[in-house]
Amino acid sequence: MDIIINSLYQNKEVFIREIISNASDALDKLRFVTVQNPEYLGELKEFEIKIDFDYDAKTISITDTGIGMTKAELIKNLGTVAKSGTTAFLEAMGKGDYMSMIGQFGVGFYSAFLVANKVQVTSKSNDDKQHVWTSTADAKFFVVEDPRGDTLTRGTRVTLFLKDDAVEFVEQDKIKNLVKKYSEFINYPIYIYLSKEIRKEVEDDEAAAEAQAQSEIEQEEGFEIQEEEEGAEKEAPKKTTKTITEQVWEWELINEVKAIWLRDRTEITEQEYFDFYKTITKDHENPIGYTHFSAEGEIEFKSILFVPGHAPYDLFENYYGKSSALKLYVRRVLITEEFEELMPRYLNFVKGVVDSDDLPLNVSREQLQQLKMIKVMSKKLVRKTIEMLRKIAEDEDEDEDEWDEYEEGEFEEYTEDDGDEFDEPEEASAPSEEGENKEASKYDLLWTNFGKNIKLGVIEDASNRSKLAKLLRFYSTHNPEKLISLDEYISRMKTDQDTIYYLPGDSKDQILKSPILKIYQKRGYEVLLMGDPIDEFCV
Ligand code: ADP
Repeated sequence: MDIIINSLYQNKEVFIREIISNASDALDKLRFVTVQNPEYLGELKEFEIKIDFDYDAKTISITDTGIGMTKAELIKNLGTVAKSGTTAFLEAMGKGDYMSMIGQFGVGFYSAFLVANKVQVTSKSNDDKQHVWTSTADAKFFVVEDPRGDTLTRGTRVTLFLKDDAVEFVEQDKIKNLVKKYSEFINYPIYIYLSKEIRKEVEDDEAAAEAQAQSEIEQEEGFEIQEEEEGAEKEAPKKTTKTITEQVWEWELINEVKAIWLRDRTEITEQEYFDFYKTITKDHENPIGYTHFSAEGEIEFKSILFVPGHAPYDLFENYYGKSSALKLYVRRVLITEEFEELMPRYLNFVKGVVDSDDLPLNVSREQLQQLKMIKVMSKKLVRKTIEMLRKIAEDEDEDEDEWDEYEEGEFEEYTEDDGDEFDEPEEASAPSEEGENKEASKYDLLWTNFGKNIKLGVIEDASNRSKLAKLLRFYSTHNPEKLISLDEYISRMKTDQDTIYYLPGDSKDQILKSPILKIYQKRGYEVLLMGDPIDEFCV
């Protein structure tokens, strides 16, 4: 716990994202249950999240009307710091900058302790009495039946007792901005209890008394007639009211609730897509690319898919046991966060949402898997994903033509001019600023992170093999610092060459030392340097 708290110290505000996201999950679970069993809702019909403060006690509370937790669930879900996610998080942290990724490890709740020295979770599930879980981040927690009885009806209220260095979070502007930032794509209304100053006219008792006294004096002094002549009657009501500012407390709606995938593409900015990505993945980096489309025909659905900017820590852990976790919605109801049947394994890095009006709501996950419609959806999703990858790669190729010109001279030793009609020697001018930036370009990044997946795709997905082959990149003797596509290789082939040459080995550097290479280079043949064990299978 100490390590988590200290490592995230710079980024304390993530707690609000994590707690809101848990509340939203709890509401998703409730909605899912009530689709099949509307009775479950009972008295409390609202699906909402409310945030309020207590300035004096320095607490902030986040309350949802979601599924709630039983006593056993409070213990199991919040009590086990030694959950597997915690271990994974600590391991990942040791490897580098995973600072704000806490939410991805299923330990997001503990981020509450970044700002609080005591956390109290009151929860009411339909299956139990209301209980209170309390902990002070000292590896102990207590759960008791709530002596106040059932105050929530259903749902969960998380109260954070703020540390001295975090009291800023009870400032309403601060919290309002944070909630705005992190809740934009939460599909439930979020309200904050905010105070506002309003100006209003009230009766001015003092002024009225004064006016009364004045008129009495005047009467006594015999000015009555004169006053009437001057129209004093009209002025009298003015004298008895005044404008005051008053503080009122109101629930203010903070977010817009319409799901982003239902909105018109042309109205959504890139920044909004990026923010949406961060919300659903809990990632803190922007994605490399995205696609937003609606499929029509046999089955209609809408989807937004993303390629993350980096590989998850467990990309190839248990590769054969899991697939891409797309969020599947049916008519805006979240059915499951990890519906494997929608994407083949090799695309397990793709994130996103799929929402269809055509799928039945009242079937179990198992029945859903059997549906033919799912296969059709999957086909379309794969096609769209490959198209998205191709677009990222194509943007790159256009830029790279210019880059080629700068590099040619530098690597002469590997590109002995053999009179190849495609291999025009260029003058070696220094790479421009722009050229240098290209090195970390999008497709390079994509390839570094997910190249293995694409190779696996070539191996596993026969029906998309030729499309995937176009996405492959290898180093070659043409310029061992630069990844090239097979098409690029072919464009440089000698006129009498009908074969792509490649040399496998332990690593690129090892292969470059091979005497065999030298022979081919002498003859003017370019050779692909295959340093990844999977390359030969892929070929
Ligand atoms: P994660 O949400 O990634 O599973 P957390 O540490 O954030 O990990 O939360 C642990 C678990 O506690 C959740 O999976 C959920 O079962 C439960 N939980 C947390 N907050 C709530 C809530 N507001 N309502 C119901 N259950 C909750």
